[in-house]
Amino acid sequence: MSTTTHAIAAPAPGAPLAPTTIERRDLRPEDVLIDIAYAGICHSDLHQAKEDWGQAIFPMVPGHEIAGVVAAVGSAVTKYQVGDRVGVGCMVDSCGECEYCLAGTEQFCVNGNVQTYNSVGLDGENTYGGYSNQIVVKDAFVCRIPEGIDLDVAAPLLCAGITTYSPLHHWGAGPGKKVAVIGLGGLGHMAVKIAAAMGAEVTVLSQSLKKQEDGLKLGASEYYATSDESTFDVLRGKFDIILNTVSAKLPVDAYLGLLRVGGAMVNVGAPGEPLAYNAFSLIGGNKVLAGSMIGGIAETQEMLDFCAKHGIGAEIETISADKVNEAYERVENSDVRYRFVIDASTIGA
Ligand code: NAP
Ligand code: ZN
Repeated sequence: MSTTTHAIAAPAPGAPLAPTTIERRDLRPEDVLIDIAYAGICHSDLHQAKEDWGQAIFPMVPGHEIAGVVAAVGSAVTKYQVGDRVGVGCMVDSCGECEYCLAGTEQFCVNGNVQTYNSVGLDGENTYGGYSNQIVVKDAFVCRIPEGIDLDVAAPLLCAGITTYSPLHHWGAGPGKKVAVIGLGGLGHMAVKIAAAMGAEVTVLSQSLKKQEDGLKLGASEYYATSDESTFDVLRGKFDIILNTVSAKLPVDAYLGLLRVGGAMVNVGAPGEPLAYNAFSLIGGNKVLAGSMIGGIAETQEMLDFCAKHGIGAEIETISADKVNEAYERVENSDVRYRFVIDASTIGA
């Protein structure tokens, strides 16, 4: 038994997305049925739809930045009621028993977390993401969207928000800390807003100065073009934390040179090709080259509450379902200010 819902899917690797229908399971006791209002387009959706990260499952319904309203709840759900404003990010299940799940870091579940799409659930069924009208998700993987953040600007927080909040928090962004953000796209613009709200001094490192005015409005105090070689001299040894949000390969050594002694460069950008660095770039300054993967569910709720408290939402361009392929092309070309969000009411309409 299941319910049919409209969706947008990539039928094959790299193929244009097209309307389709998918099945959502009937509610189990701990399930929440969500009427999706908005779904953000993350660069990870493009990577997976193109198989940049290896073999994927098709047809693929991408979308792991989901905001909507609870339409029904299973018999055992006490946390949510019909009408609640909720969000779903990159994960919809995990074992719940391993050391990482118990620590609230379900993204590192030793039995493999179940991704919102392009994944196989613990029941053996393929998962389909947020570019659709409805989704059924276990209550433990649903977050509450606080009053004060509209659903459209909240959707991108479920991936871009948590993916930047988590490492900024972990590596101590705050007053007296200098943070550089590489790439002013979906993740990058959230990183600027969140790091500034944490009290850090924020510098944007973008390919050009095209988006400088925006970057300064978002909360950065400085903005440099990485296409200008002098940037790497001027900023040498300056930053405590560098957050790399770039979806392509970068010259890592050049950026490591911008860290203070003991500083950390954290990669959240996930290009398919390997990044290379020289060991001496780390040795000469006790520097750290780190990574960070989204954040756990509890931390995602903490991030949503932080954003509500600081009046933070994403800067979005809302699109209808028929514009998804155009939006993908623009994301590919770094032509996004700063997140495309699909109005789910236009899917199947
Ligand atoms: P996005 O909106 O496309 O932003 C990426 C930005 O990187 C672009 O706006 C551009 O900024 C810069 N950029 C793009 N190509 C570049 C190039 N060849 N050289 C230098 N800079 C370039 O993408 P996103 O949605 O923010 O995602 C960014 C990356 O994070 C993707 O790889 C995505 O898969 C990954 N991601 C990782 C996690 C995680 O858990 N670690 C979670 C979500 C996403 P400028 O124009 O300002 O230079
Ligand atoms: Zn994402």
